[in-house]
Amino acid sequence: MQFRKLSEYFERLEATPSRLEMTDLLSGLFKEANANEIEKIIYLCQGQLAPAYMQIDVGMGEKFVMEALSKVSGYTREEIEKLFKELGDLGLVAEKVSGKKRQSALFSAELTVLKVYENLMKISKASGTGSQEAKIKLLAELLNSAKPVEAKYLVRIPLQNLRLGVGDPTIMDAFAINFIGELRKNKKIMQEIEKELKETKEEKRNEEIERRLKFRLREMIEDKYNVRPDLGNVAKLLKQKGLDGLREIDIEPGIPIRPSLAERLPSSEEIIRKIGKCACEAKYDGFRIAVHKKGNEILLFSRRQENMTSMFPEIIEAARRQINAKDAILEGEALAVNEQTGEYFPFQITMQRKRKYDIAEKAEEYPLKLFVFDLLYRDGKNLMNLPFSERRRELDKIIKKGDAIELTKSIITDSPKEMEKFFEDSISKGLEGIIAKDLNAKYIAGARKFAWIKLKRSYRGALEDSVDVVILGYYKGKGLRTEFGLGALLSGVYDEKEDKFRTLAKVGSGFTEEGMVEMKKMLDKIKRGNKPARVDSLLEPDVWVEPKYVIEARADEITKSPMHTAGRNEKDTDGYALRFPRMIKLRTDRKAEEATTVKEIIDMYKLQKRVKTEDVGTDAA
Ligand code: AMP
Repeated sequence: MQFRKLSEYFERLEATPSRLEMTDLLSGLFKEANANEIEKIIYLCQGQLAPAYMQIDVGMGEKFVMEALSKVSGYTREEIEKLFKELGDLGLVAEKVSGKKRQSALFSAELTVLKVYENLMKISKASGTGSQEAKIKLLAELLNSAKPVEAKYLVRIPLQNLRLGVGDPTIMDAFAINFIGELRKNKKIMQEIEKELKETKEEKRNEEIERRLKFRLREMIEDKYNVRPDLGNVAKLLKQKGLDGLREIDIEPGIPIRPSLAERLPSSEEIIRKIGKCACEAKYDGFRIAVHKKGNEILLFSRRQENMTSMFPEIIEAARRQINAKDAILEGEALAVNEQTGEYFPFQITMQRKRKYDIAEKAEEYPLKLFVFDLLYRDGKNLMNLPFSERRRELDKIIKKGDAIELTKSIITDSPKEMEKFFEDSISKGLEGIIAKDLNAKYIAGARKFAWIKLKRSYRGALEDSVDVVILGYYKGKGLRTEFGLGALLSGVYDEKEDKFRTLAKVGSGFTEEGMVEMKKMLDKIKRGNKPARVDSLLEPDVWVEPKYVIEARADEITKSPMHTAGRNEKDTDGYALRFPRMIKLRTDRKAEEATTVKEIIDMYKLQKRVKTEDVGTDAA
């Protein structure tokens, strides 16, 4: 495929405010691409060159991109900088100067997607002395042959600011649409659907069959994406082998899976009512780590599938010594423990271990302990579909005694009283609360189901569980705040069904002065002229930004509000809002799509209402 064609798709994707239209466009793009290029095209749509977990960074600083632009266009650096100030986006600058090049290209050929991908990959691999020069040259080579629309996107990719507004769920929907015809041929599934639709009127039938087929396809694709978050690979297999291709995707040591998430309930009684006899584990307040063991090689991944192998040498060593299996994937929560007293350090201290420099010193100062709680794979066997009780038994068997890896503290009970006691015990040790686990549940990758239920002290009083909100824009601030240029953040939560961000709060407190300056700088790099396509908002901030950064916020409670769009619908026009929201910290470990969801907010609101009226549980903290 010519890169011009892909750029035109990008342009249309960027321009449409409609998610349905986006899905159709992506579905068309999928059809047009061939099996050799589809993988790369999908990565480029995501603004990357490989699945995120591979952390292939094609990033180039603005300065170097301007250098490349100046090199091919004949415009001086000063002129380019001036245009940048005017237009606020180097992509637009590239588009403009490419249309009015002052020097003719020495050698110019039509760019193909494969050629562009190859050069971008070379840019990402260049390192050491002279690498900046090499990167500038590689980008300039592409820009030299680029039409204005191509130049716009060629520049935005290395700036990591593609602005298409396409989320992974929309890409998965597009794949699903393309395979409705194939799934229709599956007799078993069609019989099931026919059965479900016995009562449906004839004239609605076809449409409903189509909807259900699409829904099932989406689930089939998402199940695979959850164990291997690589949509390029999904696309390639679908293109090569149709739906049969999905069968080839399985859990594999070295490839991070999307983690299972916990629901909330307000009391031990409700938990037992919901899942019966269950395992109760201490809830440690650190960060989640997946340990992948492939023989002697150990890899560590964060909850967001980032590779953290180099950060925690003591866990790597312990994994070699303490995991009694050749290959394994297990999960746990890591936190810093005071070796003298055996007490757990607070989260802020544990977080200091997430760093790229001075790793050995910090490891000495705050050694981590990994409390492991699940085993997903062992020596060629995928254990995800076994009931939790069996997975835990296997886990207990393969962990040898040692210092850095321990099993989570756990009891099995069907008595609310006993659970309560375990809960109080955990709290008194400085832990966050407990997580109850359904003994019969499979490991549910990438989803929040009632297989895990968390119980925290905070649910008993006002809303004290924090929420993770995505920054959607900012207000410039009045009075004292004017000098920082930032007064409040318009923020929202994620609507998984629609792949949209809906507003929930204007967060205006909880920042330090330096924090505000830093935040503004960070946000200005991703600002947008108009409301991004995936944002649903009734409010208009002074500056819109690409939904990218997640902050943890606390509030007094969740209220109904006509101003916000989270949870708003036609029947009941009010949305939900946070009362007195304040920022706690930037959550660099979450992507925008991993923020709190609209559904969670609605659930939290219901929970809070019940707590207020029924007075469940013990005293509030
Ligand atoms: P939350 O982030 O509040 O939704 O709670 C879920 C998180 O608690 C998980 O993602 C883990 O990082 C953490 N966690 C701490 N202890 C446990 C445990 N025993 N079992 C599962 N998750 C745990």
